[in-house]
Amino acid sequence: MSEKQARKDAGWNFDNSYSRLPNFFYTKINPTPVSSPRLVKLNAPLGATLGLNEEVLQSSESLALFAGNEIPDGALPLAQAYAGHQFGTFNMLGDGRAHLLGEQLTPQGERVDIQLKGSGKTPYSRYLDGRAGLGPMLREYILSEAMFALGIPTTRSLAVVSTGESFLRDTEQPGAILTRVAASHIRFATFQYASQFGTVEELRALADYTLARHFPKSDGEENRYLALLQEVIKRQALLIAKWQLVGFVHGVMNTDNIAISGETIDYGPCAFLDVYDPETVFSSRDTEGRYAYSRQPEMAAWNLTRFAETLLPLLHEDKKQGAKLIEDAIAQFFVQYHANWLAGMRSKLGISKEEDEDESLITGLLNLMQMYRADYTNTFRALTLDKPEDTFMYDKLDFRQWFELWQARLGRQQETKAYSHQLMRNHNPAIIPRNHRVEEALTSAVIQEDYSVMERLLEVLANPFAYSPEQVDYASPAKLTACPYRTFCGT
Ligand code: AMP
Ligand code: MG
Repeated sequence: MSEKQARKDAGWNFDNSYSRLPNFFYTKINPTPVSSPRLVKLNAPLGATLGLNEEVLQSSESLALFAGNEIPDGALPLAQAYAGHQFGTFNMLGDGRAHLLGEQLTPQGERVDIQLKGSGKTPYSRYLDGRAGLGPMLREYILSEAMFALGIPTTRSLAVVSTGESFLRDTEQPGAILTRVAASHIRFATFQYASQFGTVEELRALADYTLARHFPKSDGEENRYLALLQEVIKRQALLIAKWQLVGFVHGVMNTDNIAISGETIDYGPCAFLDVYDPETVFSSRDTEGRYAYSRQPEMAAWNLTRFAETLLPLLHEDKKQGAKLIEDAIAQFFVQYHANWLAGMRSKLGISKEEDEDESLITGLLNLMQMYRADYTNTFRALTLDKPEDTFMYDKLDFRQWFELWQARLGRQQETKAYSHQLMRNHNPAIIPRNHRVEEALTSAVIQEDYSVMERLLEVLANPFAYSPEQVDYASPAKLTACPYRTFCGT
């Protein structure tokens, strides 16, 4: 037996179906090696679900892989091309600092993309350096894993390595590479790229590939491309409702940051609401509030319309009829989104069956939260724990009146109070990744090279519905400051 065979296998099982699309869709290119990589975070449980051996993932061989210094057997690195709307303006884009290594075929028979982010320049880098900072890559790790634990479709994070190299942004920053796991990296902007710069055959190849990969059940449909559009709409309607229900603000819903799979992707300047203010914006670049919390459903529909337009040549030979199909499908987005949101809100308030007045009960609470600047998560947490005094609104007459209405509403359903509170516990997280907690973890990791703060944070975020004693400390919002929280993209 050779030395290589005697060593344990990491469990990589790559296929490269994306590379079998026309080469118009990508550029084959290897990551740029880095000088002294160090594994700073590994997601062993995720690795296990992918069929990867933890011991080998901890080894120097795997470090070289996560750093982009070695290409594993079966991988075929490439950068994907895309072109989309950034804050409403159409631009040619593409993976400027990411390399798709290939698709891991998991023991459960799933196919997931393994992508390095921050792994060096590609032909799509434009004037940028192809690198990513340690802080932002750890931030994506924390936020994406927190979203996963909250039950929200998302890309995942397998590993973060620091590169040992620093680069200049506003200040000198240590570099890092994130290994990202995604259902796929096909974006709305991938379709826009095909529509704008490709032939109809190339567009059809992408649509067929997407159908086969994500929506195989649409195979027998009469109009497969309409089925594709409807499925993508359905997944966005679910995803955005989940964002709204948990108070998540993506921050940069440009069409290049929206995945066809319906997963949350590209964690840049995103954050969770503290006080309930629908106008909340976290991105320093979003000066006009385009991607404010309250506008996310509307912007999702805008993005879906851009996606739908790319399908026009495939939807119907008659353009007008194609446009009508799009119009009807987009109208469905709002219907589905609203139904998902309402169902989720009912659960957050322990309501099991529908009554017509439920929506006004829900908006009544949201209005009070907005007026009294109540904390979004902690208001629902207090109601879940049957401690209305912890909402900090209990001394207000109008809140008391709302509370009585809600109690009466619960009293009208057959289920016990205990049942309602269990329903609420299942739908109201005890904790979310609070901005000040995330920043504290990042500062300690990046500046002091102490990862223990981040590890503790990740631990409590892994079970957001546990209501455990350790979570109490992490539930408090930041002290109010005069300066609103902002995060930065392109970081
Ligand atoms: P983002 O704002 O992160 O969604 O990125 C928008 C586009 O800019 C994508 O095409 C990225 O690949 C590209 N990009 C962002 N940062 C860099 C960088 N440091 N180097 C090269 N390309 C980048
Ligand atoms: Mg992006």
